[in-house]
Formats: sequence, C-alpha cells, structure tokens
Amino acid sequence: MSFYSTRGGACVTASQAILWGLAHDGGLYVPSMFPQIPLDRIAEFGSSSYQHRAVRILHAFLEDYSIGEIEEAVNLAYASPAFDDPAITPVKYLDRQTYVLELFHGPTLAFKDIALKLLPHLIALAAEKNDEKREISILVATSGDTGKAALEGFKDVPGTSCTVFYPYGGVSSIQELQMTTTGGSNTHVLGVRGNFDDTQNGVKRLFTDKAFHEKMNAMGKLPSSANSINFGRLVPQVVYYFSAYADLVNSGAIRMGQSIHFVVPTGNFGDILAGYYAKQMGLPIGRLICASNRNNVLTDFFTDSTYYTHRTFFQTLSPSMDILISSNLERLLYESANRDPNLVKTWMTQLAESGSFSVGVQRLKALQTTFWAGYADDNMTMEEIHTVYERKGYVMDPHTAVGSRVLAQYRDRTNDPTTCVLLATASPYKFSDDVLRALWGCERAAGLDTFACARELERLSGVPIPKSISELKTLPVRHHSVCEKDEMEAALLRELGGE
Ligand SMILES: *Cc1c(COP(=O)(O)O)cnc(C)c1O
Repeated sequence: MSFYSTRGGACVTASQAILWGLAHDGGLYVPSMFPQIPLDRIAEFGSSSYQHRAVRILHAFLEDYSIGEIEEAVNLAYASPAFDDPAITPVKYLDRQTYVLELFHGPTLAFKDIALKLLPHLIALAAEKNDEKREISILVATSGDTGKAALEGFKDVPGTSCTVFYPYGGVSSIQELQMTTTGGSNTHVLGVRGNFDDTQNGVKRLFTDKAFHEKMNAMGKLPSSANSINFGRLVPQVVYYFSAYADLVNSGAIRMGQSIHFVVPTGNFGDILAGYYAKQMGLPIGRLICASNRNNVLTDFFTDSTYYTHRTFFQTLSPSMDILISSNLERLLYESANRDPNLVKTWMTQLAESGSFSVGVQRLKALQTTFWAGYADDNMTMEEIHTVYERKGYVMDPHTAVGSRVLAQYRDRTNDPTTCVLLATASPYKFSDDVLRALWGCERAAGLDTFACARELERLSGVPIPKSISELKTLPVRHHSVCEKDEMEAALLRELGGE
C-alpha cells in the first residue's frame, strides 16, 4: 500500500510516511486505500490478546514492515509495568447502553501513551528500512502532557533521542515532576523562560532553520517531530476501536455485526479520525460523536459546514482539548472531497489566509450521516463528573466528562437507543484536584494538595492510585536545565553534545 499527501504531491511507503511525518507539500500522509477487516476476522479477535489484535491491524497498513518486526514493536510497546492492565485498553460497564473504553492505563495516564509507546519503535524500524544512519532526534514543545508521553515512549529506544521543551513555571507541578524525573539515557528536558507560545515558536523556528539542521547533521543527528499528524501515531489508535468491539461481542453485550456508536473527547481530531478509519475498514460503527469543550470550533463545523478559527481561545478544565486548529481534520476533508487534493489545497489556503473555509451543504450532509457534534463548558463538565459518580459510582476525568455530557445531549435530542462506547482519554488521578472539587464542592476540597486529593479519590472510587502518581513524591529529579527563550538552540546543542 502507498501513502499519498492530502495535497497531492507524494506517493511513499508506510515507513517513509512514518519517518518523515509531514509531506513536503505541507499535506498529511493518507493511505491509498482502506484495508478491509471482515467480520469473521473481528470475531477471531475475541479470543486473542490486545497485542495480537494490534499486529493484525497494523500489518494491514504497514506493508513494508514484516509481521515479525511489528510483533516485536508491539510487544516492546505494550508490556507491563508500563501498562498496568493486561487488557491494555479495558472496556468497563457503565449502564446497559453505555460502556467506557479506558485508554489511560499507560505510563502517563492518558490515551496518547497508546500511540507514543509504539511510534518510537516504528520510527526506528523506518530509519533502518530507508538507510537513515543518523540518530532520530525528536524535539517536542509541550504545554504539559505530550512531553511526558513522548519522553516515556522514546526512553532508551536505540537510534533515537527525545528532547522536551516546556514553559518553565507554566505547567502544573505534577506535570513538571513527571517530566524532570524521567529516566533513560536518551531523554532531555529543558525549561524555557517564557510561555507556551514562546516555547512552541522556538521549536518551530529550529525546524525551519537550515544552519541548525547542518549543525545537527554534523553531530550525526536528524531533527524530527512526534506530533499527532504522523501516520504512525494514528494507526495504533485504530486498534482500540476494533479491540473494544471484539470485547463487547465476547462479553455478550452486542452481537457480531451490530452497529454501535463511539463518543470521542476531541482536540486535534486524531483520536476520532482513527475511529473513522476503523469504520472505513468495515468495523460496524454507526455514529462517531465528536465532543468538544468551550473551544467548540468542531461543533460549529459539523453544524453549519464552516470551519472558523478567528475566535477567542479559552483555557478550560480539559486542557488537552484546548485547540482551535484541529490538524487531523485535513485527513477527513480529503475523504470528504472524494480524495481531490486540489479541493483540500483550496480549503487550506482559505484557512491560512482568512481563518475559515466552508465545505458546503452537500458535503456537510454526507459527513452528518457519520458525525454528530456537541460541546460542554467547564460548569457542565464539573456537573457531569458529579452526576456520573452519584448515579453510577464511576469517577471520570474532565476530558472524559466532556464526552459523557455530549453523549447525554445526543440521547436527549435523538432518543437513539444504540449502544455507545465512551472513550476515557485520561485517568481522573491526572486531575485529582479538579475531580475532587467536582465531587465534593470547592469549599470542602480547599486546602488539600494533589496527593491528598488523590488519596480521597482512591477512597471514593475504590480504584488504587497508579504507581506513576504515588512514586513522584520520591523519584529523584534528573533534569534541571533551564534556558532563556532566545537561547533554546544553544541549550539543546549543549544537552545533545554531552550525551
Ligand atoms: C490529546 C487529548 C485529547 C484530544 O485528542 P485528539 O486526538 O487531539 O483529538 C483528549 N483527551 C486527552 C486527555 C488528551 O490528552
């Protein structure tokens, strides 16, 4: 199978798409076709491990990787103790029509681990296949979560290194500790005196700076990014849609072939796009319900066909969904345009020049047969955490609660009784303070530090505190470097030079 650019200018192999990340014309790599997984294959998944399911799905896309290579990568990625549940992405019962797909059992307690534990192995193999001898030096700017997930993923993967820049003093103390205590001989963490925009712009500048690339080349290093537009981050996410379906059939909750809906808390549109790909591959998905927080640009798009980004940016309780430009939407637009790259280019040019574009009413109608969209603000999110706990005894994190609230809106408006799977994208322990406030009210929860909040949540939910939270108190801090925002390059070269 080949990979094309959404903007027309490429035809590459799977390993090249993964090694290069973004196409030269600025487009995203998309598969030339969707491999079909028939129902009898899905039925076989019922009796196999998550790892086995992953190998089958991945191999359908990654034709220039051997089964053996994929098996080894998958086994390295999804081993204990990094994942604390043998099911990797277990499905939990909420009520007769609703199940929760828990995607937060990896080392950083959020769903990005599923892709970021596997991607480094896929990149290392891709480098080998394409005769790339340089070390793949991953550079990440983070507002908190992605940085730690990337560090854990690339930690000690041969042929790679990972450097994370974060705004010094601009992330939560837990997030900072998570990053600065990271082990591994190829991980680097640099605080930047500036805000997230300064940090992100600094990294973007490095990627376009020729002199910097030459210096890295002289050190035998190839700068690269691990961001969510890489096809290698998308394909591991397709797996858990199939896996959840097989588990539900296995437990008798649904019968094989029955159509179900998935509800996805959405930011960059990567997670929900993976669900769309699963549907294109033959998984019986009825609807994909797209849940946003107050940054509801996608809700508007799926309601009136116009994507409009010149709007106020809000900081919310679900920070990983605070996004105004959902990069992965471009892959859906490509399918919506019947794979016409010129149409995609036109829309992307309009977006860059005027901050908006419209796909028109006909295309919107076609998209609406699969997608339904809604949003929940912070008040609704807090209420939802409280209500779900009161009624069902299940404690959700704020991102998952956004999804849960939008699902309630969907059912209110449609009376659709179809079984739904809600994707739980983060552990409540990652946001212990806010979650306890939602359950107890602000007054009663006041004055407790994060670890105390976590202990109360453990008591309320009966779910043990994950080790990756409790050990933070005692792990030694290994990364101390801080730099000025206009000295990021020098600080990076110093770090990498001393490797
Ligand atoms: C990244 C993230 C999301 C959004 O996922 P996208 O693929 O960007 O749509 C939702 N919840 C959590 C906890 C996340 O970390």
